[in-house]
Amino acid sequence: MSSDVTADVSAFTPSLLADLQAGRPVFWANPARSAAPEIQTSVDGRAISLADVRAAQARFVRFAPLLARLFPELQDSAGRIESPLLPAPAMQQALGLPASAGALWIKADHSLPVAGSIKARGGIHEVLEFAESLALEHGLVTLDADYAVLADAPARALFGRYQVAVGSTGNLGLSIGVMASALGFRAAVHMSSDAKAWKKDRLRKRGVQVVEHTGDYAAAVAAGRREADADPYAYFVDDERSLSLMLGYSAAALHLADQLAAAGVQVDAAHPLCVYLPCGVGGAPAGIAFGLRQLYGPHVHAFFAEPTQSPCFLVEMVAPGASVYDIGLTNRTEADGLAVPQASELAAQAMRPMLGGVYTVADDTLFADLHRVRETQDLRIEPSAAAGFSGPHMLTGTDAGRAYLRQHHLDSAMPGATHLVWTTGGLFVPPEEYARFAERGAALAATQPA
Ligand SMILES: *Cc1c(COP(=O)(O)O)cnc(C)c1O
Repeated sequence: MSSDVTADVSAFTPSLLADLQAGRPVFWANPARSAAPEIQTSVDGRAISLADVRAAQARFVRFAPLLARLFPELQDSAGRIESPLLPAPAMQQALGLPASAGALWIKADHSLPVAGSIKARGGIHEVLEFAESLALEHGLVTLDADYAVLADAPARALFGRYQVAVGSTGNLGLSIGVMASALGFRAAVHMSSDAKAWKKDRLRKRGVQVVEHTGDYAAAVAAGRREADADPYAYFVDDERSLSLMLGYSAAALHLADQLAAAGVQVDAAHPLCVYLPCGVGGAPAGIAFGLRQLYGPHVHAFFAEPTQSPCFLVEMVAPGASVYDIGLTNRTEADGLAVPQASELAAQAMRPMLGGVYTVADDTLFADLHRVRETQDLRIEPSAAAGFSGPHMLTGTDAGRAYLRQHHLDSAMPGATHLVWTTGGLFVPPEEYARFAERGAALAATQPA
Protein backbone atom coordinates (compact mmCIF):
# COMPACT_ATOMS: atom_id res chain seq x y z
CA MET A 1 0.00 0.00 0.00
CA SER A 2 2.74 2.46 0.84
CA SER A 3 4.24 2.31 -2.67
CA ASP A 4 1.18 3.82 -4.35
CA VAL A 5 0.66 6.54 -1.77
CA THR A 6 4.26 7.71 -1.55
CA ALA A 7 3.58 10.02 -4.50
CA ASP A 8 0.84 11.77 -2.51
CA VAL A 9 3.41 12.90 -0.01
CA SER A 10 4.29 15.58 -2.56
CA ALA A 11 1.17 17.34 -1.27
CA PHE A 12 3.23 18.44 1.75
CA THR A 13 5.10 21.70 1.50
CA PRO A 14 8.83 20.98 1.85
CA SER A 15 9.11 22.92 5.11
CA LEU A 16 6.15 21.15 6.77
CA LEU A 17 7.49 17.77 5.69
CA ALA A 18 10.97 18.63 6.96
CA ASP A 19 9.59 19.71 10.36
CA LEU A 20 7.46 16.56 10.67
CA GLN A 21 10.36 14.31 9.73
CA ALA A 22 12.65 16.06 12.20
CA GLY A 23 10.06 15.51 14.96
CA ARG A 24 9.66 19.28 15.48
CA PRO A 25 6.20 20.34 16.76
CA VAL A 26 4.14 21.90 13.96
CA PHE A 27 0.87 23.77 13.65
CA TRP A 28 -1.06 23.01 10.45
CA ALA A 29 -4.08 25.10 9.51
CA ASN A 30 -6.80 23.39 7.51
CA PRO A 31 -7.12 25.35 4.23
CA ALA A 32 -10.53 23.77 3.52
CA ARG A 33 -12.21 25.02 6.72
CA SER A 34 -15.47 26.76 5.89
CA ALA A 35 -16.81 29.71 7.86
CA ALA A 36 -20.37 29.06 6.64
CA PRO A 37 -22.97 29.07 9.42
CA GLU A 38 -24.10 25.60 8.42
CA ILE A 39 -22.27 22.82 6.63
CA GLN A 40 -23.96 19.83 5.00
CA THR A 41 -21.95 16.88 6.24
CA SER A 42 -22.09 13.37 4.96
CA VAL A 43 -19.93 10.40 5.71
CA ASP A 44 -19.96 7.34 3.48
CA GLY A 45 -22.81 8.90 1.57
CA ARG A 46 -25.06 9.37 4.62
CA ALA A 47 -25.95 12.91 5.67
CA ILE A 48 -25.39 13.56 9.37
CA SER A 49 -26.73 16.46 11.36
CA LEU A 50 -27.67 17.74 14.80
CA ALA A 51 -30.56 15.24 14.79
CA ASP A 52 -28.00 12.42 14.92
CA VAL A 53 -26.20 14.05 17.82
CA ARG A 54 -29.50 14.31 19.70
CA ALA A 55 -30.37 10.71 18.84
CA ALA A 56 -27.12 9.50 20.42
CA GLN A 57 -27.83 11.62 23.48
CA ALA A 58 -31.38 10.22 23.71
CA ARG A 59 -29.98 6.68 23.61
CA PHE A 60 -27.73 7.42 26.60
CA VAL A 61 -30.79 8.78 28.41
CA ARG A 62 -32.86 5.65 27.64
CA PHE A 63 -30.10 3.43 29.01
CA ALA A 64 -29.40 5.51 32.12
CA PRO A 65 -31.71 3.52 34.45
CA LEU A 66 -30.07 0.27 33.32
CA LEU A 67 -26.55 1.66 33.74
CA ALA A 68 -27.39 2.92 37.23
CA ARG A 69 -28.46 -0.63 38.05
CA LEU A 70 -25.33 -2.25 36.56
CA PHE A 71 -22.67 0.19 37.82
CA PRO A 72 -22.65 1.32 41.48
CA GLU A 73 -20.39 4.25 40.50
CA LEU A 74 -23.25 5.66 38.40
CA GLN A 75 -25.77 5.76 41.23
CA ASP A 76 -25.14 9.41 42.04
CA SER A 77 -25.53 10.54 38.44
CA ALA A 78 -28.64 8.36 37.89
CA GLY A 79 -26.83 6.41 35.19
CA ARG A 80 -25.38 9.32 33.23
CA ILE A 81 -21.71 9.06 32.28
CA GLU A 82 -20.42 12.63 32.33
CA SER A 83 -17.45 14.76 33.38
CA PRO A 84 -17.03 18.24 34.87
CA LEU A 85 -16.05 21.42 33.06
CA LEU A 86 -13.34 23.15 35.10
CA PRO A 87 -11.88 26.65 35.04
CA ALA A 88 -8.08 26.37 34.99
CA PRO A 89 -6.51 29.73 35.90
CA ALA A 90 -3.56 28.18 37.77
CA MET A 91 -2.72 25.92 34.83
CA GLN A 92 -3.10 28.90 32.51
CA GLN A 93 -0.45 30.69 34.54
CA ALA A 94 1.84 27.65 34.56
CA LEU A 95 1.55 27.49 30.78
CA GLY A 96 2.46 31.17 30.50
CA LEU A 97 -0.76 32.01 28.68
CA PRO A 98 -1.59 35.70 29.27
CA ALA A 99 -5.14 36.81 30.06
CA SER A 100 -5.09 38.83 26.82
CA ALA A 101 -5.10 35.49 24.96
CA GLY A 102 -8.37 34.33 26.56
CA ALA A 103 -9.27 31.95 29.39
CA LEU A 104 -8.22 28.32 29.88
CA TRP A 105 -10.81 25.66 30.77
CA ILE A 106 -10.58 21.89 31.06
CA LYS A 107 -13.19 19.34 30.00
CA ALA A 108 -12.28 16.57 32.42
CA ASP A 109 -13.04 13.40 30.45
CA HIS A 110 -10.04 11.76 32.12
CA SER A 111 -12.43 11.28 35.05
CA LEU A 112 -15.30 9.67 33.12
CA PRO A 113 -16.62 6.77 35.19
CA VAL A 114 -16.84 3.15 33.98
CA ALA A 115 -14.22 3.54 31.23
CA GLY A 116 -11.79 6.09 32.70
CA SER A 117 -11.35 7.81 29.35
CA ILE A 118 -13.13 9.61 26.54
CA LYS A 119 -13.89 6.14 25.11
CA ALA A 120 -16.76 6.00 27.59
CA ARG A 121 -18.62 8.16 25.08
CA GLY A 122 -18.14 6.49 21.70
CA GLY A 123 -17.32 2.95 22.77
CA ILE A 124 -20.17 2.62 25.21
CA HIS A 125 -22.59 4.25 22.78
CA GLU A 126 -21.88 1.64 20.14
CA VAL A 127 -22.35 -1.27 22.56
CA LEU A 128 -25.62 0.27 23.73
CA GLU A 129 -26.81 0.77 20.16
CA PHE A 130 -26.12 -2.86 19.34
CA ALA A 131 -27.81 -4.08 22.54
CA GLU A 132 -30.80 -1.84 21.86
CA SER A 133 -31.22 -3.10 18.31
CA LEU A 134 -31.26 -6.72 19.57
CA ALA A 135 -33.65 -5.91 22.42
CA LEU A 136 -36.07 -4.08 20.10
CA GLU A 137 -35.90 -6.78 17.48
CA HIS A 138 -36.73 -9.44 20.07
CA GLY A 139 -39.52 -7.40 21.65
CA LEU A 140 -37.81 -7.06 25.04
CA VAL A 141 -38.26 -3.28 25.17
CA THR A 142 -39.91 -0.47 23.27
CA LEU A 143 -38.26 2.92 22.86
CA ASP A 144 -40.26 4.38 25.75
CA ALA A 145 -39.86 1.42 28.13
CA ASP A 146 -37.78 1.31 31.30
CA TYR A 147 -34.55 -0.25 30.04
CA ALA A 148 -33.69 -1.50 33.54
CA VAL A 149 -35.44 -4.74 32.46
CA LEU A 150 -32.42 -5.40 30.27
CA ALA A 151 -30.59 -6.51 33.42
CA ASP A 152 -33.10 -9.38 33.80
CA ALA A 153 -32.72 -12.99 32.69
CA PRO A 154 -34.44 -12.88 29.26
CA ALA A 155 -32.22 -10.05 28.01
CA ARG A 156 -29.09 -11.59 29.47
CA ALA A 157 -29.87 -14.89 27.76
CA LEU A 158 -30.27 -13.03 24.45
CA PHE A 159 -27.09 -10.97 24.82
CA GLY A 160 -25.13 -14.01 25.97
CA ARG A 161 -25.57 -15.58 22.53
CA TYR A 162 -23.54 -12.76 20.98
CA GLN A 163 -19.93 -11.79 21.10
CA VAL A 164 -18.84 -8.16 21.01
CA ALA A 165 -15.28 -7.76 19.76
CA VAL A 166 -12.93 -4.83 19.26
CA GLY A 167 -9.32 -4.15 18.31
CA SER A 168 -7.71 -1.62 20.59
CA THR A 169 -4.57 -0.02 21.97
CA GLY A 170 -6.21 -0.16 25.35
CA ASN A 171 -8.76 2.46 26.25
CA LEU A 172 -11.32 1.53 23.60
CA GLY A 173 -10.97 -2.09 24.62
CA LEU A 174 -11.57 -1.10 28.25
CA SER A 175 -14.79 0.74 27.47
CA ILE A 176 -16.21 -1.85 25.08
CA GLY A 177 -15.08 -4.83 27.11
CA VAL A 178 -16.42 -3.52 30.41
CA MET A 179 -19.78 -2.43 29.01
CA ALA A 180 -20.29 -5.50 26.82
CA SER A 181 -19.57 -7.92 29.65
CA ALA A 182 -21.73 -5.93 32.10
CA LEU A 183 -24.67 -6.33 29.72
CA GLY A 184 -24.04 -10.07 29.45
CA PHE A 185 -22.35 -10.26 26.05
CA ARG A 186 -19.31 -12.40 25.52
CA ALA A 187 -16.56 -9.83 25.02
CA ALA A 188 -13.24 -10.13 23.21
CA VAL A 189 -10.61 -7.42 22.97
CA HIS A 190 -7.82 -7.72 20.43
CA MET A 191 -4.76 -5.84 21.62
CA SER A 192 -1.28 -5.30 20.33
CA SER A 193 1.16 -7.16 22.56
CA ASP A 194 2.69 -3.88 23.78
CA ALA A 195 -0.63 -2.74 25.30
CA LYS A 196 -0.27 -1.91 28.99
CA ALA A 197 -0.38 -4.89 31.34
CA TRP A 198 -2.78 -3.19 33.77
CA LYS A 199 -5.34 -2.69 30.99
CA LYS A 200 -5.21 -6.38 30.07
CA ASP A 201 -5.53 -7.34 33.75
CA ARG A 202 -8.50 -5.06 34.30
CA LEU A 203 -10.32 -6.63 31.36
CA ARG A 204 -9.52 -10.21 32.31
CA LYS A 205 -10.84 -9.55 35.82
CA ARG A 206 -14.17 -8.64 34.24
CA GLY A 207 -14.32 -11.85 32.26
CA VAL A 208 -13.28 -10.27 28.98
CA GLN A 209 -11.20 -12.40 26.64
CA VAL A 210 -7.97 -10.56 25.78
CA VAL A 211 -6.36 -11.67 22.51
CA GLU A 212 -2.80 -10.44 22.08
CA HIS A 213 -1.31 -9.72 18.66
CA THR A 214 2.23 -8.94 17.68
CA GLY A 215 2.42 -5.87 15.49
CA ASP A 216 0.88 -2.45 15.84
CA TYR A 217 -2.60 -1.24 16.55
CA ALA A 218 -3.78 -1.48 12.93
CA ALA A 219 -2.73 -5.13 12.86
CA ALA A 220 -4.74 -5.88 16.02
CA VAL A 221 -7.81 -4.24 14.51
CA ALA A 222 -7.45 -6.18 11.25
CA ALA A 223 -7.10 -9.49 13.08
CA GLY A 224 -10.14 -8.80 15.25
CA ARG A 225 -12.22 -7.75 12.26
CA ARG A 226 -11.29 -10.95 10.36
CA GLU A 227 -12.20 -13.20 13.27
CA ALA A 228 -15.55 -11.51 13.87
CA ASP A 229 -16.47 -11.50 10.16
CA ALA A 230 -16.42 -15.29 10.20
CA ASP A 231 -18.98 -15.50 13.06
CA PRO A 232 -22.64 -14.45 12.55
CA TYR A 233 -23.06 -14.02 16.30
CA ALA A 234 -20.10 -11.67 16.56
CA TYR A 235 -20.38 -7.90 16.39
CA PHE A 236 -17.15 -6.03 15.68
CA VAL A 237 -16.68 -2.45 16.81
CA ASP A 238 -14.59 -0.94 14.06
CA ASP A 239 -12.66 2.03 15.40
CA GLU A 240 -11.49 3.01 11.92
CA ARG A 241 -14.89 3.25 10.26
CA SER A 242 -17.66 3.41 12.81
CA LEU A 243 -20.33 6.10 12.59
CA SER A 244 -21.94 4.90 15.84
CA LEU A 245 -18.70 5.57 17.71
CA MET A 246 -18.38 9.03 16.22
CA LEU A 247 -21.96 9.97 17.05
CA GLY A 248 -21.54 8.67 20.60
CA TYR A 249 -18.66 11.11 21.02
CA SER A 250 -20.64 13.91 19.42
CA ALA A 251 -23.26 13.80 22.18
CA ALA A 252 -20.65 15.31 24.50
CA ALA A 253 -21.33 18.65 22.79
CA LEU A 254 -24.88 18.88 24.12
CA HIS A 255 -23.89 18.38 27.73
CA LEU A 256 -20.91 20.69 27.34
CA ALA A 257 -23.17 23.42 25.96
CA ASP A 258 -25.26 23.22 29.15
CA GLN A 259 -22.10 23.38 31.26
CA LEU A 260 -20.74 26.39 29.37
CA ALA A 261 -24.05 28.20 29.72
CA ALA A 262 -24.22 27.38 33.43
CA ALA A 263 -20.69 28.75 33.86
CA GLY A 264 -21.63 31.94 32.04
CA VAL A 265 -19.25 31.25 29.16
CA GLN A 266 -20.47 32.82 25.92
CA VAL A 267 -19.67 31.49 22.47
CA ASP A 268 -20.08 33.94 19.56
CA ALA A 269 -18.00 36.04 17.18
CA ALA A 270 -16.50 38.08 20.04
CA HIS A 271 -16.03 34.94 22.18
CA PRO A 272 -14.61 32.17 20.02
CA LEU A 273 -14.42 28.67 21.48
CA CYS A 274 -11.05 27.06 20.73
CA VAL A 275 -11.08 23.35 21.55
CA TYR A 276 -7.97 21.18 21.79
CA LEU A 277 -8.61 17.48 21.31
CA PRO A 278 -6.06 14.65 21.59
CA CYS A 279 -6.33 12.58 18.40
CA GLY A 280 -5.68 8.90 17.70
CA VAL A 281 -7.63 7.54 14.72
CA GLY A 282 -9.72 10.71 14.90
CA GLY A 283 -13.14 9.33 15.80
CA ALA A 284 -13.35 10.91 19.25
CA PRO A 285 -12.11 14.39 18.36
CA ALA A 286 -14.08 14.39 15.09
CA GLY A 287 -17.30 13.40 16.83
CA ILE A 288 -16.91 16.13 19.42
CA ALA A 289 -15.84 18.75 16.88
CA PHE A 290 -18.81 17.80 14.72
CA GLY A 291 -21.25 18.10 17.63
CA LEU A 292 -19.85 21.48 18.68
CA ARG A 293 -19.96 22.79 15.14
CA GLN A 294 -23.66 21.89 14.95
CA LEU A 295 -24.28 23.97 18.06
CA TYR A 296 -21.92 26.92 17.63
CA GLY A 297 -21.36 27.14 13.88
CA PRO A 298 -18.12 28.84 12.81
CA HIS A 299 -17.49 30.26 16.30
CA VAL A 300 -15.96 26.96 17.38
CA HIS A 301 -12.40 26.30 16.28
CA ALA A 302 -11.39 22.67 16.74
CA PHE A 303 -7.73 21.66 16.82
CA PHE A 304 -6.51 18.08 16.98
CA ALA A 305 -3.37 17.26 18.98
CA GLU A 306 -1.07 14.42 17.90
CA PRO A 307 2.34 13.10 19.00
CA THR A 308 5.24 14.21 16.78
CA GLN A 309 5.82 10.58 15.76
CA SER A 310 2.12 9.76 15.13
CA PRO A 311 0.49 12.68 13.31
CA CYS A 312 -1.80 10.36 11.32
CA PHE A 313 -4.71 12.80 11.08
CA LEU A 314 -2.51 15.60 9.79
CA VAL A 315 -1.03 13.20 7.23
CA GLU A 316 -4.52 12.06 6.17
CA MET A 317 -5.71 15.65 5.72
CA VAL A 318 -2.72 16.60 3.58
CA ALA A 319 -2.14 13.32 1.75
CA PRO A 320 -5.31 11.18 1.88
CA GLY A 321 -4.59 7.47 2.24
CA ALA A 322 -1.06 7.94 3.53
CA SER A 323 0.19 6.77 6.92
CA VAL A 324 2.84 8.21 9.24
CA TYR A 325 5.20 5.48 8.03
CA ASP A 326 4.92 6.88 4.49
CA ILE A 327 6.64 10.07 5.63
CA GLY A 328 9.31 8.20 7.54
CA LEU A 329 7.96 8.48 11.08
CA THR A 330 8.05 5.66 13.64
CA ASN A 331 4.63 5.84 15.36
CA ARG A 332 6.60 5.38 18.58
CA THR A 333 5.24 7.45 21.46
CA GLU A 334 4.48 7.06 25.16
CA ALA A 335 1.02 8.43 24.41
CA ASP A 336 -0.44 4.98 23.83
CA GLY A 337 -3.97 6.31 23.26
CA LEU A 338 -2.67 8.32 20.30
CA ALA A 339 -0.18 5.84 18.82
CA VAL A 340 -2.03 5.29 15.57
CA PRO A 341 -0.30 5.14 12.16
CA GLN A 342 -3.34 5.72 9.95
CA ALA A 343 -6.36 7.95 10.54
CA SER A 344 -10.02 7.06 10.17
CA GLU A 345 -11.17 8.05 6.70
CA LEU A 346 -14.65 8.57 8.02
CA ALA A 347 -13.44 11.06 10.60
CA ALA A 348 -11.28 12.84 8.03
CA GLN A 349 -14.20 13.09 5.63
CA ALA A 350 -16.40 14.64 8.29
CA MET A 351 -13.70 17.06 9.41
CA ARG A 352 -12.48 18.40 6.07
CA PRO A 353 -14.82 21.43 5.99
CA MET A 354 -14.85 22.13 9.73
CA LEU A 355 -11.50 21.32 11.32
CA GLY A 356 -9.43 24.35 12.35
CA GLY A 357 -6.14 22.52 12.23
CA VAL A 358 -3.78 19.95 13.71
CA TYR A 359 -0.68 20.44 15.82
CA THR A 360 1.92 18.02 17.08
CA VAL A 361 3.44 17.60 20.53
CA ALA A 362 6.74 16.06 21.65
CA ASP A 363 6.48 13.31 24.27
CA ASP A 364 8.57 15.36 26.72
CA THR A 365 6.00 18.15 26.58
CA LEU A 366 3.19 15.66 27.33
CA PHE A 367 4.96 14.58 30.51
CA ALA A 368 5.79 18.15 31.56
CA ASP A 369 2.14 19.15 31.13
CA LEU A 370 0.93 16.01 32.92
CA HIS A 371 3.04 17.17 35.87
CA ARG A 372 1.90 20.81 35.63
CA VAL A 373 -1.80 19.97 35.66
CA ARG A 374 -1.35 17.90 38.80
CA GLU A 375 0.63 20.67 40.49
CA THR A 376 -1.79 23.42 39.56
CA GLN A 377 -5.21 21.75 39.37
CA ASP A 378 -4.66 18.48 41.24
CA LEU A 379 -5.74 16.43 38.20
CA ARG A 380 -4.22 13.03 37.38
CA ILE A 381 -4.18 12.35 33.68
CA GLU A 382 -2.36 9.94 31.37
CA PRO A 383 0.27 11.14 28.85
CA SER A 384 -2.13 11.02 25.85
CA ALA A 385 -4.55 13.22 27.74
CA ALA A 386 -1.98 15.99 28.12
CA ALA A 387 -1.73 16.67 24.38
CA GLY A 388 -4.32 19.44 24.50
CA PHE A 389 -2.32 21.69 26.80
CA SER A 390 0.17 22.90 24.21
CA GLY A 391 -2.69 23.96 21.94
CA PRO A 392 -3.23 27.51 23.20
CA HIS A 393 0.46 28.27 22.76
CA MET A 394 0.59 26.65 19.32
CA LEU A 395 -2.36 28.80 18.27
CA THR A 396 -1.45 32.12 19.86
CA GLY A 397 2.34 31.91 20.11
CA THR A 398 3.61 30.45 16.82
CA ASP A 399 3.80 32.06 13.37
CA ALA A 400 1.52 29.42 11.84
CA GLY A 401 -0.99 29.77 14.67
CA ARG A 402 -1.04 33.56 14.43
CA ALA A 403 -1.56 33.29 10.69
CA TYR A 404 -4.67 31.20 11.45
CA LEU A 405 -5.95 33.88 13.84
CA ARG A 406 -5.43 36.60 11.22
CA GLN A 407 -7.01 34.57 8.44
CA HIS A 408 -10.12 33.95 10.52
CA HIS A 409 -10.25 37.53 11.84
CA LEU A 410 -9.81 36.36 15.41
CA ASP A 411 -7.03 38.71 16.56
CA SER A 412 -9.27 41.23 18.26
CA ALA A 413 -11.52 38.52 19.72
CA MET A 414 -8.80 36.64 21.57
CA PRO A 415 -9.18 38.36 24.95
CA GLY A 416 -12.74 36.99 24.94
CA ALA A 417 -11.72 33.52 23.74
CA THR A 418 -12.29 30.29 25.64
CA HIS A 419 -9.48 27.75 25.28
CA LEU A 420 -10.98 24.39 26.14
CA VAL A 421 -8.47 21.60 26.69
CA TRP A 422 -10.01 18.14 26.60
CA THR A 423 -8.25 15.79 29.03
CA THR A 424 -9.09 12.39 27.63
CA GLY A 425 -7.96 9.67 30.02
CA GLY A 426 -6.30 8.65 33.25
CA LEU A 427 -8.82 7.66 35.94
CA PHE A 428 -7.75 4.01 36.05
CA VAL A 429 -3.98 4.39 35.59
CA PRO A 430 -2.47 2.47 38.53
CA PRO A 431 -0.85 4.75 41.13
CA GLU A 432 2.66 3.26 40.64
CA GLU A 433 2.47 3.90 36.92
CA TYR A 434 1.13 7.41 37.44
CA ALA A 435 3.96 8.13 39.89
CA ARG A 436 6.51 7.27 37.18
CA PHE A 437 4.78 9.58 34.68
CA ALA A 438 4.68 12.41 37.20
CA GLU A 439 8.32 11.98 38.18
CA ARG A 440 9.44 12.11 34.58
CA GLY A 441 7.22 15.15 34.04
CA ALA A 442 8.53 16.99 37.09
CA ALA A 443 12.14 16.61 35.89
CA LEU A 444 11.19 17.90 32.43
CA ALA A 445 9.05 20.78 33.67
CA ALA A 446 12.00 21.94 35.79
CA THR A 447 14.33 22.10 32.78
CA GLN A 448 11.94 23.39 30.12
CA PRO A 449 9.65 26.27 31.07
CA ALA A 450 6.32 26.24 29.26
C1 LIG B 1 -8.67 7.01 22.12
C2 LIG B 1 -8.10 8.16 22.82
C3 LIG B 1 -8.01 9.41 22.21
C4 LIG B 1 -8.38 9.71 20.79
O1 LIG B 1 -9.48 9.06 20.25
P1 LIG B 1 -9.49 8.58 18.72
O2 LIG B 1 -10.90 8.27 18.42
O3 LIG B 1 -8.59 7.39 18.62
O4 LIG B 1 -8.95 9.72 17.92
C5 LIG B 1 -7.46 10.43 22.97
N1 LIG B 1 -7.04 10.24 24.23
C6 LIG B 1 -7.14 9.06 24.84
C7 LIG B 1 -6.65 8.93 26.26
C8 LIG B 1 -7.66 7.97 24.16
O5 LIG B 1 -7.72 6.79 24.77
